[in-house]
Amino acid sequence: MIEPAVLGKILWALGIIAWYVIRYPFERRAKRVRIVYRARARSEIIGLAAALFGLGILPGIYAATGFPESAEYPASIWMVVLGGLVFAAGLGVFRWSHKALGRNWSITLEIREKHKVVSSGPYKFVRHPMYLSFLLMGLGQAMLLPNWVAGTAGIIGFAVLFFLRVDKEERMMQESLGPEYEQYMKQTKRIIPFLY
Ligand code: SAH
Repeated sequence: MIEPAVLGKILWALGIIAWYVIRYPFERRAKRVRIVYRARARSEIIGLAAALFGLGILPGIYAATGFPESAEYPASIWMVVLGGLVFAAGLGVFRWSHKALGRNWSITLEIREKHKVVSSGPYKFVRHPMYLSFLLMGLGQAMLLPNWVAGTAGIIGFAVLFFLRVDKEERMMQESLGPEYEQYMKQTKRIIPFLY
């Protein structure tokens, strides 16, 4: 039987590959849509770097080398199975958000030509389903990787990106798209349906 700790690392790595397979075509298509406004803030670079580091680089180093060994704890198969399910749910929300956002997607804070307020698909329930998907993947990572540092790094990376960005993003949307986004804000929560 495969050890839970090894299974967790394999599932995490497969999840990251799936993440990229989902994102790649949208990233390519987005390149063809003109940008009419771009927020230039240092906090954007810090947030993206934190997410990349916490959800990608640090857990990647752990999965490949076992570093940092002193932060390791025994893995449980149930935790790994649950982590795999939560990570998969995150990937599902990630794909659903990309499909709904379509040509309006950007890696950073941008307004594209003919930008529209999307309020369908997962955007019916929350304003930031893509960030919710990062939170779910971060929670999944914490359960898949039995390491206090590499496991929890994803949730921290998500939190840094989210809290540095969300106010600015909503202000940008209000300023560029006006009443339509304001109306949409009244109908939805940020990332947790009915709660926050
Ligand atoms: N915060 C959203 C989108 C992330 S992608 C989410 O978590 O799902 C970031 C880009 O999406 C921003 O540059 C902004 O232009 C765009 N955006 C965010 N919310 C949007 C919406 N409801 N409709 C259209 N574009 C949106």
